[in-house]
Amino acid sequence: MQVTAIIAAGGRGQRFGGEVPKQLVSVGGRPILERAVTAFLSHPAIHEVIVALPAELLADPPAYLCAAPKRCRLVAGGVRRQDSVRQAFQVASERSDLIVIHDAARPFASADLIARTIEAAAEGGAALAAVTARDTVKRGALAAGRSGPDGVGAQLMVVAETLPRDSIYLAQTPQAFRRDVLRDGLALGETGADATDEATLAERAGHAVRLVEGEATNIKITTPADLLVAEAIARGSQERAASERMEFRIGAGYDVHRLVEGRLLVLGGVSIPFERGLLGYSDADAVCHAVTDAVLGAAAAGDIGRHFPDTDPKWRDWSSIDLLRRAAAIVNAHGYAIANVDVVVIAERPKLAPFLDQMRANVAHAIGVAIGAVGIKGKTNEGLGELGRGEAIAVHAVALITRN
Ligand code: MG
Repeated sequence: MQVTAIIAAGGRGQRFGGEVPKQLVSVGGRPILERAVTAFLSHPAIHEVIVALPAELLADPPAYLCAAPKRCRLVAGGVRRQDSVRQAFQVASERSDLIVIHDAARPFASADLIARTIEAAAEGGAALAAVTARDTVKRGALAAGRSGPDGVGAQLMVVAETLPRDSIYLAQTPQAFRRDVLRDGLALGETGADATDEATLAERAGHAVRLVEGEATNIKITTPADLLVAEAIARGSQERAASERMEFRIGAGYDVHRLVEGRLLVLGGVSIPFERGLLGYSDADAVCHAVTDAVLGAAAAGDIGRHFPDTDPKWRDWSSIDLLRRAAAIVNAHGYAIANVDVVVIAERPKLAPFLDQMRANVAHAIGVAIGAVGIKGKTNEGLGELGRGEAIAVHAVALITRN
């Protein structure tokens, strides 16, 4: 799946005031814009980044924009936010399946939040990060027949109703959309509908938009007072980053399939000549299934049954090695790189030794590591139990992943 990120930095920050454009103000020693753009440039699930800038910045863009090797473009922002996004969308790669949009004024979106939003939009068509309301939410209305305290100033407001807080969500970005969903929303925007975010346009175009759990630290910097909070968040995240730099995680996977006649035996993507094969959905490749669970488990990203349910006919024609490749992409999208996997195959027969290197190569290729990072060993069960009687083949796998 190809993903384009659009960073909407087209506004001039009128509520912010000051000499320096809001996007270029630093928090924790780095400009807000640099932080927002870098979160996407460095994200493994993002293939290109398009930044919509006000004309004066586009004429002389800061060096940190697009210094990275990733495909990155700058475009002129429009009058309204949705105009900026439209300009950026027009130059997005034709190959992009998904577009993720982010406010330049939100410098603290985490890699996990970006991954969650992308994953939800890939499944449902559209998704946005949102947080639940912590304060009790009131809708205000003008007091009937009253003007303000001084007779001319602010209108006197009263509570019209108290809204049930548990169904109130405050929208953040990132917001992600399948290409056709965003196209529909922006087309609606062109007909005059104004919106403060793209999800509103997608909703009005009739698309369901999924809510993804946002982050309290993913604040939007709107006024100078927000900078105090932003400085505190930047300090906290620098400390956390230092402790995360050494983050390693492990995962375990296990699978067992019955051996039956009339089935092909496939292990680690290799068809092995034998009089029986493993019974199960698709090719029943227990090596791939166990490794899939190990890598997903290391990222706490669910398991094979959750991502590729055997009740969904769409996976019927997929080989297990292809499902493993998709599982590795999910792990990468969570911000992790796979370091190595190790596998034990318990099979009384056939002898697996002649096939182990090809199985290692297939698994290594699927998960994007060198063959030296994949161990696969064959074992017998010493004649004990159903494995020992050759009624089934069982596989144990472990995986180590590291924070990208
Ligand atoms: Mg299985």
